[in-house]
Amino acid sequence: MKFGGTSVATPGHIRRVADRLIARHEAGDRVVAVVSAMGKVTDDLVDLAHQLTAHPSVREMDMLLTTGEQVSIALLAMAVQARGVDAISFTGAQVGIMTSSTFSKAQILAIDAACVREALDEGKIVIVAGFQGRTPDGQITTLGRGGSDTTAVALAAGLSADLAEIYTDVAGVYTADPRIVPKARKIDVIGYEEMLEMASSGAGVLSMRSVEAARNHGVIIHCRSSFTDEPGTIVKEQDADMEQAIVSGVTFDTSEVKFTIRAVPDQAGVAAQVFSKLADHDINIDMIIQNISEDGATDISFTAPTGELDVAEQAVREAVEVIGARTWVVDEDVAKISIVGAGMKTQPRVSARMFSALAAAGINIDLISTSPIRLSCVVAQDQMEDAVRALHTEFGLDDSSAVDESN
Ligand code: ADP
Ligand code: ASP
Ligand code: MG
Repeated sequence: MKFGGTSVATPGHIRRVADRLIARHEAGDRVVAVVSAMGKVTDDLVDLAHQLTAHPSVREMDMLLTTGEQVSIALLAMAVQARGVDAISFTGAQVGIMTSSTFSKAQILAIDAACVREALDEGKIVIVAGFQGRTPDGQITTLGRGGSDTTAVALAAGLSADLAEIYTDVAGVYTADPRIVPKARKIDVIGYEEMLEMASSGAGVLSMRSVEAARNHGVIIHCRSSFTDEPGTIVKEQDADMEQAIVSGVTFDTSEVKFTIRAVPDQAGVAAQVFSKLADHDINIDMIIQNISEDGATDISFTAPTGELDVAEQAVREAVEVIGARTWVVDEDVAKISIVGAGMKTQPRVSARMFSALAAAGINIDLISTSPIRLSCVVAQDQMEDAVRALHTEFGLDDSSAVDESN
């Protein structure tokens, strides 16, 4: 049972989580809880670090951020104990979550979890800090923002649990972020592949790594509300009984910037030189477009993570020098919107419908990319919400019973 930041934001919230754990324990389940830092604590810690330096070391950043989860596990264990039920908390390092040594985005390599099994055998509720682990040589690491979901799924796999329940501040996975699209509908069941595309294109309700881990280890996820008992969304292997909508969800992502390199000589090997420079600096490129102009030069545009803007600019500066391009610009006010659906594979008209719906809403498309079950467009950030709502309506996802607050 994993509880996110909003679910443990105050002592009152923590008490309610304790009650949920105890109810399951008393029903006869062996319960392992994974918790995030309280409320916005992780963001506050990031802020604190940036008040001291613009470029904090990644090792010290992980040392700092893991304290957030250490606070919430101890408080939750106390809350359970105060109700007269035995509980024990552990950090990621204590439960043997072994990770790679890439601070700030470490990958889980193995989980020992012997102490978890031992405590469960003793009848305790076990509470584990999300988002953290340790390297084989004892360094403390974090798994990347939203990483507590991954801890929960990895522990569920390591303990051969029946289910990984992810409790959050919405009632499950919706056809679009319900904060942006009031008419979004809760999805009852979704396959791993669709969920993976939704998570990787911006649906932050489940972290992408957690869905990947669930798919790789066959862990069933139940994503649900921490405030009510209603059933949420089941994430599992797609099977023949599951409905194959053309489009299951609409997502958006504002975490990328768009670079354009102007008047690049139109010769073989030029793109290779540009993207080699970016790769040398470890920049993950998402979308790419190349336009050939009439005078024999081309423009190359691509998107890169906002968080790596400084390094990407450095790489582009070097590339422009080598290839002899005229200029380059970066646009930070962009957003990527995507439609995701397993049924899209057999529907040739999907892209035409997407572009027409955007055109009808007066929205210009900058870049386009596709996967077999996803179509993404980059648009101006101030048109993002309109774009998401237009696509949600176009593909028949609106909940007709929902109150439309936008009118
Ligand atoms: P937690 O702190 O519990 O991990 P998160 O903030 O990480 O919670 O994730 C929950 C949030 O994800 C919701 O409040 C919602 O705004 C957002 N979200 C984005 N896309 C979706 C979606 N498709 N379905 C449900 N929630 C979504
Ligand atoms: N506290 C971490 C974060 O805010 C991890 C998590 O909540 O999943 O990203
Ligand atoms: Mg989260």
